[in-house]
Amino acid sequence: VDIKKDSDLMHIIHVTAEMAPIAKVGGLGDVVTGLARACLSRGHSVEIMLPFYECIQKQQITDLVLLTNYNSYHDGNWIPTNAYRGIVSDIPVIFIEPSNHFFKGRQVYGGSYNELEAYLFFSRACLEWMQVTGTQPDIIHVHEWQTGALPLLYWDMYTHLSLKKPRIVSTIHNMEHYGECRQEQLSKCGLDGSIYATTDKAVDDRTIGHNPERLSLLKGGIVYSNAVVTVSPTYLKETLNSGWLASTLIRSRDKYFGILNGIDAYMWNPAIDVFLPAKFHAERPKGKKICKYYVQRGLGLAPESTVAGHQVLDKPQKVPLIVCITRLVAQKGLHLITHAIKRTEELGGQIVVLGTASDGRVQNEFEGLANLHNQGPNVRILLMYSEELSHMLYAAADMVLVPSIYEPCGLAQMLGMRYGAVPVVRKTGGLADTVFDIDDQANRDKANGFTFEGIDEGSLNWALDRAFAYYREKPDEWNGIVQKIMKIDNSWNNTAGKYIEIYGSVRLKC
Ligand code: ADP
Repeated sequence: VDIKKDSDLMHIIHVTAEMAPIAKVGGLGDVVTGLARACLSRGHSVEIMLPFYECIQKQQITDLVLLTNYNSYHDGNWIPTNAYRGIVSDIPVIFIEPSNHFFKGRQVYGGSYNELEAYLFFSRACLEWMQVTGTQPDIIHVHEWQTGALPLLYWDMYTHLSLKKPRIVSTIHNMEHYGECRQEQLSKCGLDGSIYATTDKAVDDRTIGHNPERLSLLKGGIVYSNAVVTVSPTYLKETLNSGWLASTLIRSRDKYFGILNGIDAYMWNPAIDVFLPAKFHAERPKGKKICKYYVQRGLGLAPESTVAGHQVLDKPQKVPLIVCITRLVAQKGLHLITHAIKRTEELGGQIVVLGTASDGRVQNEFEGLANLHNQGPNVRILLMYSEELSHMLYAAADMVLVPSIYEPCGLAQMLGMRYGAVPVVRKTGGLADTVFDIDDQANRDKANGFTFEGIDEGSLNWALDRAFAYYREKPDEWNGIVQKIMKIDNSWNNTAGKYIEIYGSVRLKC
């Protein structure tokens, strides 16, 4: 695609805990990479600063060099720290590696070090690096609670040193990740924690009587940023109307925006995707059938012709393949996912769940389901993280299921659509901004999937049953929808411009 270059070019540095594909846990990693790449292709200068996690996928980094050896502060000590520079997916990345135990371990999150202290250290180490190297971007873009202390450190410490030019933009990807922090913990990055213990600053509004001992890095970061973005227009409304951040966000209304995340149209492109056994696109959809067959065979699912289908009917039924690719946490509607497995079997379809659980009980529950179903012909529950498999599953799927209880934006439905999987989603947050029900007369031109509103099993059945009926009884219309969703542009090419506008509106103009 030919991308138009912007005329007013800026230098943007993202400071983030995740980046796809080398350190991705969820959507945050995708968003940072996709947005950075889109801004680069519009002519801006963009860098990403990331902890040099021990588990980072180093084979995907090219031209890695040690840039700077410097000291950064933690809890009364100056820690020798290395800054490396490398290229990942065409994006320059600066890796911060402290010489202590922070960021060691086999996973991005959940190592044996103190996570809060490690990200406080990282937030300061990024500013310290800018200070010692004289790097002054127009915009520092922080994400989530992990980098929420950076705006505080910037305005209360580094602007009194030599950093003057940067302005701070903060994105809230999920307001349920609070960044709980006690005053004395915040003090470990060199700030005086007690200064932030007021409701107009960083006191965690969820605490009884606004306990001054309990702070939220997410909230502090919002208060101290020049602009705050959340990841969809509907989630913006939801966060203003209810929830623990509402009063802070209402006070910040003039600098608070909702911009739908995009997907990376280059990494996620079924016409060139190296993970797929056959490529396809809207005009040449044939490869999608090959992908479905390949996945069915690979996972030992019954191929289409041999599935019995509905017991009461004697003619063989068409067998839709549903995929659900997600972190297995309460937010994602766990009871609806387990119900969908049962309902899909009843309807004579096939379903593959690809997910990871961080909670032991959830892991046990899904292991139980996997043991029950994985030998059978129609259900696979794969409890692992696999980028490669996720590409293949979206490509193979007839439907993508996203039954979230709440969903700030959601990428799975957009990725599914790009690969021709019709979305079946709960109407909340970004799902409500991207999926429009086929039977909704008011939105006929946008119609692209099946939605439901309740959080009960009956509501899910209503959407799933209709999707099955369409798939089986109206094949021409179904194929039309598949073609239509593959053409929808949910990419950053479409939305990065809105971020650029916000960057431009807050940058320091000389
Ligand atoms: P969240 O950020 O809440 O995890 P999103 O829908 O915004 O949810 O983004 C999830 C991203 O992570 C998608 O790209 C999805 O394909 C991917 N993903 C989730 N679980 C897995 C898994 N087990 N294996 C591979 N990819 C996964």
